[in-house]
Amino acid sequence: MTSKYDQNGKGQHKYGMETRTIHAGSSPDPVTGARNTPIYQTTSYVFDGAEHASDLFNLQAFGFIYSRLTNPTVAVLEERIANLEDGRAAVCASSGHAAQFLAFFSLLDPGDEFIASRNLYGGSITQFGVSFKRLGWNCKFVDPHDPENFRKALSEKTKAIFIEVLANPSGVVVDLEAIAAISKEAGIPLIVDNTLSTPYLCQPFDWGADIIVHSTTKFLSGNGTSMGGAVVESGKFNWAARGKFPTMTEPDPAYHGLTFAETFGDFGYTMKTRTVGLRDFGPCMSPANAFYTLMGMETLHLRVERHVENALKIAEFLDGHPAISWVSYAGLKSSPYHQLKQKYLPKGAGSVFTFGVKRGYDACIKLVESVNLFSHLANVGDTRSLILHPASTTHRQLTDEQRKNAGAGSDVIRLSVGLETVGDLIYDLDQALK
Ligand SMILES: *Cc1c(COP(=O)(O)O)cnc(C)c1O
Repeated sequence: MTSKYDQNGKGQHKYGMETRTIHAGSSPDPVTGARNTPIYQTTSYVFDGAEHASDLFNLQAFGFIYSRLTNPTVAVLEERIANLEDGRAAVCASSGHAAQFLAFFSLLDPGDEFIASRNLYGGSITQFGVSFKRLGWNCKFVDPHDPENFRKALSEKTKAIFIEVLANPSGVVVDLEAIAAISKEAGIPLIVDNTLSTPYLCQPFDWGADIIVHSTTKFLSGNGTSMGGAVVESGKFNWAARGKFPTMTEPDPAYHGLTFAETFGDFGYTMKTRTVGLRDFGPCMSPANAFYTLMGMETLHLRVERHVENALKIAEFLDGHPAISWVSYAGLKSSPYHQLKQKYLPKGAGSVFTFGVKRGYDACIKLVESVNLFSHLANVGDTRSLILHPASTTHRQLTDEQRKNAGAGSDVIRLSVGLETVGDLIYDLDQALK
């Protein structure tokens, strides 16, 4: 679904990010004139006739068949996310993790490998390291601080590199352009989880990424109401070049031998992800969740601006506090990641960051139990400010070594700074630290 507001560089005037967060992908409803995108709460769609039905099933016509594959409300969200990322196409999923599963399912066969930064969302480390392994998908984790570590981990079987530009929870910023160059040389796609930076702060396709994944659960929906995920493709990756991606270039028996890369060209990966991954595993996004996510996204630019402003003030406050040993926020000039932040995240380093409490594990537990305004829970990117002790919660399943590597040691507290009055947030942390 495209609308007259998309103008994604195709017309003479390209609309700004703010305009596109509000309009991309949506047009007034052609039947009722409804200005907002309706919730198409339906599982299925009437065919025009028998021929239309068989064309749809053969992927020879585009249209709605069944909401496990496509739904008009979800389609608007897919178009909007693809547009904001300057991508070619996107497919939504029921959660960020479902999106990651689909992203890899379209690339990997059993026995294949991929390389991932070790600085990732804790759930991704478990998904990649434990559950994917059972499918025969082998992940090698590397320290992303030196991009050359990705090159060193390459093998004949490597089919992708996966990173977070702004890593959760440690606030590490990785050198996107350098890592993209390595994946390009190896002829494999670079997948970027852009959840914490959002398309408002970082545009990974501009730096050479090929696929972007999102947990829309976080800043895109923004209000902590709706689970969701998305996979976006740039449309620029050449699947056939090195013969590494039979899933994309060999005839698909379930669709009368059509070849995704050839038949659908620059959105072949999205078609594969939708018509095979979503079709056979079924983690589709509900129309209601797509609606809430669209509603949240309309204010993405305003929210993220304030998230960043509040986060910087709180990081500065903590940085000078006697009970705190360190603050890892790339927005601080003293951060070792500040230079990379200036390059890749010029509008701000997001609002999720970590700091160290001098008196360690027990003091961290005391802190999360003493705050009033911050909610103690496992989420990020909410309007509300959130606090978490990763070592006793999200990163609990990991070994001590993995926890330290992921920036989630026992003295670490993670904040997701919300949109409240910043003085109130500082007051709350100050009284709790006392
Ligand atoms: C939350 C999160 C995920 C997982 O998304 P869900 O929607 O919770 O499945 C993946 N990556 C990052 C960076 C996240 O913050």
